[in-house]
Amino acid sequence: MTNRFLGPFLAGALLCSPFPASAIYFNFEPDPGTSQDAINGFVQAGNLWNVWLGDNITLNIEIGFTALDPGIIGQTSSSWLGPSYSEVVSALQSHATSPDDFSAYGNLQSGSSYSRLINYTSNNPNGPNSSIPYVDTMDWVGLTAANAKVLGLLGPSLNTDARIVFSSSFSFAFDHASVDPFSIDFVGAAAHEIGHVLGFVSGVDDIDTMGGAQPGTNFSSNMIDLFRYSTNSIAYGSGVTDYTAGNAYPKYFSVDGGTNAIAQFAAGKVLGDGQQASHWKDGLNLGIMGPTAGYGQTLNISTNDVRAMDVIGYTLVPEPCTAQLIFTGFAACAAALGARRRRT
Ligand SMILES: [Zn+2]
Repeated sequence: MTNRFLGPFLAGALLCSPFPASAIYFNFEPDPGTSQDAINGFVQAGNLWNVWLGDNITLNIEIGFTALDPGIIGQTSSSWLGPSYSEVVSALQSHATSPDDFSAYGNLQSGSSYSRLINYTSNNPNGPNSSIPYVDTMDWVGLTAANAKVLGLLGPSLNTDARIVFSSSFSFAFDHASVDPFSIDFVGAAAHEIGHVLGFVSGVDDIDTMGGAQPGTNFSSNMIDLFRYSTNSIAYGSGVTDYTAGNAYPKYFSVDGGTNAIAQFAAGKVLGDGQQASHWKDGLNLGIMGPTAGYGQTLNISTNDVRAMDVIGYTLVPEPCTAQLIFTGFAACAAALGARRRRT
């Protein structure tokens, strides 16, 4: 942080303390041979999230480098759980703290199952593998081990929660404050992958890549998909979510049952817009969970990213900030973010 940005940063800090009393402890477990630069980069990436998230949990994350497909910067795999929809809703409601939480959970479908639009399944009534959506009912939800820990659906353990690997064939800049034009921002990219670990993963990617091969009952919506809507899905009923692959009807993040769109999601690598659905829409500068990173580009966490983490179960720090964020202090918090974005 340079003096140049101290002003706006401190102005925001009055509302959003960057020094939370509790925070996520990221227990990174590096593969043998992982450089100290990379290990330090992961720690900084965890700290980027901890500016916003104040949950007192420990996450065990293996980290390393390997050969990945051309164009792939990093990859994340997580342990997954599949609790019932009732358990998930109850856990979310008992962790509701922010206005977004209360709004989002108040607009979740009631009962022990939820309705969603789905397509490209073997049991599509419009024909096997048809792109035409139909309404499907599901009674469980997929969530990452990290997401389960934060909601109390998984207790503390030494088990590995996730593994993040970076491509060994990219040039990385390890100084987040100074990304040269020929390198990828390692800290930002690591924060992106940690975002997937935390739970920003859509099950629509399963439909997108395995479409037609399996019935809809094999695909639960993931946590983030409980807040994935389109104007098409809500036309089928209040709070009906959109779990379809493909470009028809933009899919968006909403915290009020789909009435108001906050940010658009990507539509699918194979059947959609060419980007995995586990991301914001590409090219719109929506946040660190966008699907691509350019050489020389500094990647930073946006208010969209923070609001998504908030409603999937994380707690923003300190809580007064959350209320301020939504009602009166949004500009101040955004200014802190904006200041850091301009550091490029
Ligand atoms: Zn990603």
